[in-house]
Amino acid sequence: MTRVLLVEDESRLLQGLRVNLEARGYQVDAASDGASALASAASRPPDVAIVDLGLPDIDGVDVILGLRAWGSMSIIVLSARGDEPDKIAALDAGADDFVTKPFGMGELLARIRAAERRADATVAGGAVVETPDFEVDLAAKRIVRGGEVVHLTPTEWHLVEILVSNPGKLVTQQQLLHDVWGPRYEDETNYLRVYMAQIRRKLEPEPTTPRYFFTEPGMGYRFESGTPEA
Ligand code: CA
Repeated sequence: MTRVLLVEDESRLLQGLRVNLEARGYQVDAASDGASALASAASRPPDVAIVDLGLPDIDGVDVILGLRAWGSMSIIVLSARGDEPDKIAALDAGADDFVTKPFGMGELLARIRAAERRADATVAGGAVVETPDFEVDLAAKRIVRGGEVVHLTPTEWHLVEILVSNPGKLVTQQQLLHDVWGPRYEDETNYLRVYMAQIRRKLEPEPTTPRYFFTEPGMGYRFESGTPEA
């Protein structure tokens, strides 16, 4: 059973989320401020934490840093529209994903399922990632599409490797630029547009309407393997 820690100070939203998650078989711990969230995580480490960034006592980003100390749980951030700098700070602090308020329950549940899949993939080692159109062998550094090996440049491969190793997870532009090009390139977002277009041409059935390599405008990129959700 997946244990979910909900951290949200709006009591009606907190109750609504709790009822919905419990109805779907999740074990739920609820906290209405940062201090109780950290205490709850310390005594009952969750598999997934859902954290509102605007809390009355501790800054949401500090809550994320604190939760990270208790293990490898998935952390999904809830934030208001227009809070891009806060979202990026939260992702840099170790959050895995975010949902923008107001959101539908269906969207949050999909994000939780993606977080659970990532946890499973981590346990399994995740050396080969299969999609309906191509297969990525992370250990052999090889991609096969329609029986043929796809040739990627080292830079293209590095980007694919980071995204595919984090299925369903938003990877920020800054993280990709930092990891692939280096610390002085974190503002060169045009590099990413160019390389992601090349990657889509090589791997996507319809490069202009991607089904695997998604753009989160202004934020980063996300890989989805396209396998149906359980
Ligand atoms: Ca709030």
